Amino acid sequence: MTLEHSPEGLNCVPLFDKSANTISIEVEGEEDIPFWDAVISTCINTNGYSINCIPQKGCKEIIKHLIENGDSQDFIAIIDSEYDEIIHDKELYKQNPFAVFTIRHSIENYLFCYNSLAATIKKINRTSENKYRQLCLDFQKELSERLKKLLYYDCKKEDKPEIFPDGLSILGSNSNIAKFTTKNNYLPDTDKIDNFIENNHINIINTDDIENLFNDKNLFYFLNGHFITYSIFTFINTQIKKGKMKLGKDSLYMLLYEYCPNCRNKCSDFSSVINRLETAVNGMIKKFET
Ligand SMILES: [Zn+2]
Repeated sequence: MTLEHSPEGLNCVPLFDKSANTISIEVEGEEDIPFWDAVISTCINTNGYSINCIPQKGCKEIIKHLIENGDSQDFIAIIDSEYDEIIHDKELYKQNPFAVFTIRHSIENYLFCYNSLAATIKKINRTSENKYRQLCLDFQKELSERLKKLLYYDCKKEDKPEIFPDGLSILGSNSNIAKFTTKNNYLPDTDKIDNFIENNHINIINTDDIENLFNDKNLFYFLNGHFITYSIFTFINTQIKKGKMKLGKDSLYMLLYEYCPNCRNKCSDFSSVINRLETAVNGMIKKFET
């Protein structure tokens, strides 16, 4: 009789095969799975345990699960910070050792980091030129500058939704930056943004308090990732050399997922999120082994 077929052997399996114990990680949506999979496989030693990322319907659903489970929580939760660094709306859940928060608004704000964008463009253009980092950094600064007013309104709305018109989407994921952008342009048009603000009568709302909270922060970290996707991908495609193939969104995402984990050495806020995730993974392993 072989070990696998004896009842004793079956009982022993977890001792030999750690992958029988899977660490479950709740993430906000399907698009978060390849991102966190890439981060975990590149940056975190799971000590032989396998990882299963389970998509949920956004941060509200994950937070609901955290509250329901209490001390019996047997999963790790990864939650987008959104404006938490500014208005501290999720501060309460940060005490949970198995809850990991992005510091930037969402995974896209890491994925679209100028370091990842530059590496992606370099790869597509098959060049070792180093001009792309500065180019991507300048693009992100200009994009943030143009979206600054909308960002302040969007954050203010998160804090005080009651003073905004019902159903108004500012930097929302169901809104689209393309409506502020003229064809083939990757930067939004400031006149179109000003018109939007006036037409929705939100120009009367004072955002000085919010602007002060942002003072020394990098605005790019807080721009809603879904909202800026169109600009990011149009920008990448305009940097692709003549004669090279323009890439669709899915292929570009694949490249960004590949490069993004390398950013941890250049972006300290990213490495601290990864450290926090590593602590949560180690804590879960300890739970399994005691
Ligand atoms: Zn980065």
